[in-house]
Amino acid sequence: AKKAGRNRFKAFTQAMLERASRLLVLETDLRGAISRGEFFLVYQPIVRLDNAAALHGFEALIRWRHPQNGLISPGEFIPVAEESGLIVDIGLMVLREACQTLMSWRADSPYARELVMSVNLSPRQFSDPTLVEDVKTVLAETGLPPQALKLEITETAIMDNATSAVDKLRRLKSLGMALSIDDFGTGYSSMSSLQQFPLDTLKIDLSFVQRMETGPEGLEIVKAIISLAHSLQLQVIAEGVEREVQRDLLRGLACEYAQGYLYARPLPTQEAWEYMRRSLNR
Ligand code: C2E
Ligand code: CA
Ligand code: CA
Ligand code: CA
Repeated sequence: AKKAGRNRFKAFTQAMLERASRLLVLETDLRGAISRGEFFLVYQPIVRLDNAAALHGFEALIRWRHPQNGLISPGEFIPVAEESGLIVDIGLMVLREACQTLMSWRADSPYARELVMSVNLSPRQFSDPTLVEDVKTVLAETGLPPQALKLEITETAIMDNATSAVDKLRRLKSLGMALSIDDFGTGYSSMSSLQQFPLDTLKIDLSFVQRMETGPEGLEIVKAIISLAHSLQLQVIAEGVEREVQRDLLRGLACEYAQGYLYARPLPTQEAWEYMRRSLNR
């Protein structure tokens, strides 16, 4: 028994070491990835539910093309970037490029002037002391009007430090952009804590959208989230909408916006532009 325990321990430490060294390699590779130009952005459409899926805007999502390992998903490298602090530089690059993209679309199409570009902010970025200045600088450099930008901040990033979050959100808000609480439902915010934040929209995490059809509780949860949001004057975006049934249920609950494979996957810049042109002609 003792030997078995020792072997188990050995296997355990072995697995831990392997994991640690994999993360270390990933972090080393991440360090040079910006300057080597290995990141690129894809854009996923966000549509209105009340109006024949009229295009509302896009969410910018990062992709990493690793020279040896191919595409690495953000679910894998964003936590490493977050842990190491590299996310601050990466995030700034994402913000700048997303703003530039919408700026160039606006120059080519008057319709693009109605669209909103949503950009994710990680917890570390959100707590970075120079965030507000950095966002201001990017807006000035790219020329994008702040009204065309929306920042998505996760519920946990806001709630982990609610007191300073209020101040930070107010300062961002005063620059003129819209603010969204992301992955809502995965944290523990109460109605009273939510109402102190100057938010515009609430995004329901896809895990809730997926559970909507699996039973009455799933639907009740989404219903409760939407009515909570509406009672706080927040508009709602449902993420991960893949099927027409989900769309119809959400529409029935007066959810304003949807995003998901039913409409489009996250698209490379040129395809996102074409998606915009097509929805303009509908
Ligand atoms: P998120 O912010 O919740 O983004 C939504 C995720 O859902 C995206 O995954 C998107 O591709 C995926 N998705 C959209 N529609 C559907 C659908 O119908 N079905 C399914 N199964 N999935 C759908 P992605 O692009 O892999 O990103 C994962 C997470 O990585 C994001 O979750 C976000 O937390 C983080 N992330 C991505 N890009 C950035 C970035 O530029 N900055 C930061 N800080 N985080 C990012
Ligand atoms: Ca998001
Ligand atoms: Ca900084
Ligand atoms: Ca999510």
